[in-house]
Amino acid sequence: MTKTAGNALIACHDCDLLFRARPLRNSERAACPRCGAVLYHKRPQTISRALIYSLTALIFFGLANFFPFMTFKMQGREQVTFLVSGGLELFQQGFRGLGILVLAVGVLLPFLRIIGTLYVLIPLEFNLVVWKAKETFKFVEAITPWAMMEVLMLGVIVAYVKLIDITTIVLGTSLYSFAALILFMTLSSAALEPIEVWARLEQRS
Ligand SMILES: [Zn+2]
Repeated sequence: MTKTAGNALIACHDCDLLFRARPLRNSERAACPRCGAVLYHKRPQTISRALIYSLTALIFFGLANFFPFMTFKMQGREQVTFLVSGGLELFQQGFRGLGILVLAVGVLLPFLRIIGTLYVLIPLEFNLVVWKAKETFKFVEAITPWAMMEVLMLGVIVAYVKLIDITTIVLGTSLYSFAALILFMTLSSAALEPIEVWARLEQRS
């Protein structure tokens, strides 16, 4: 049995029995020895698929930050906003903590999550383990619940609905890229099996 990292102790979601996860072969399933619930199964090429989704997410992250997010037109004036504008505006208005929080969960943490995932998965795809790969993957797993771009998106939709009557709003390339970014980050998470990543990191170090 391959020794796996610290977080590989998992609990059955049905009966809470604790046991140590082990890597599976393709199409194999792990079932709870007590109640028989299927705990996880191995789908083929999880790492390759997660890798492709993460690379696509990185491209949309670049587009989302490069192009205008929304343009407001009111009485002949035009104001262009970018993805980071909301957080920066809050910061400048004196809501420093809130501004930093919005930028962290909406921009910085998603970026670190994509970069960290690629840093671990690209070499792993070629059966290599790079420097500090385990620490990086542990970090990625730790920040994942905090990379909440959906919250930022929800704020944008609320603002849009409130302002649409009093001003003309042009949705920018960034907004569509941001929506695509959320989609591909979700696909990447769905494809990735952390248990498999941990098993492969342990095998090759
Ligand atoms: Zn069980």
